[in-house]
Amino acid sequence: MDCPRCQTTLETQPIVERNDRIIVDKCPSCQGIWFDKNELTPLENISEPVLIEWRKIPSEYDQLTALNCPFCPEHPMMKKAEHPRDEKVIYDYCESCSGIWLDGGELEAIQKESWVSAIANLFRKLH
Ligand SMILES: [Zn+2]
Ligand SMILES: [Zn+2]
Repeated sequence: MDCPRCQTTLETQPIVERNDRIIVDKCPSCQGIWFDKNELTPLENISEPVLIEWRKIPSEYDQLTALNCPFCPEHPMMKKAEHPRDEKVIYDYCESCSGIWLDGGELEAIQKESWVSAIANLFRKLH
């Protein structure tokens, strides 16, 4: 499977977050990540929103460039959608296979440190 943005061959990579582990296809060149159906939802539920690294998110122009689905054999044009939790993150999704493409940095923008560890860190600073 090739990267929809830069055509580099995607590499399978596990993402480990606390006790959960999912396998994604990641572009070694632009750091974009392809999620098969149902892979993003469980990952998002793992941690709570905290810190946003804007600088890692591609420019609006790049984010709005049309991309084709890397998974479907006919590579249909993917749709754009704003992430419900963060309108600066525009992700691409395929209506046909329900796969999702996140550009480099977008996953970090969605994912955040958990509230528990944020509060624990604050406590550590106070003592
Ligand atoms: Zn790429
Ligand atoms: Zn597709």
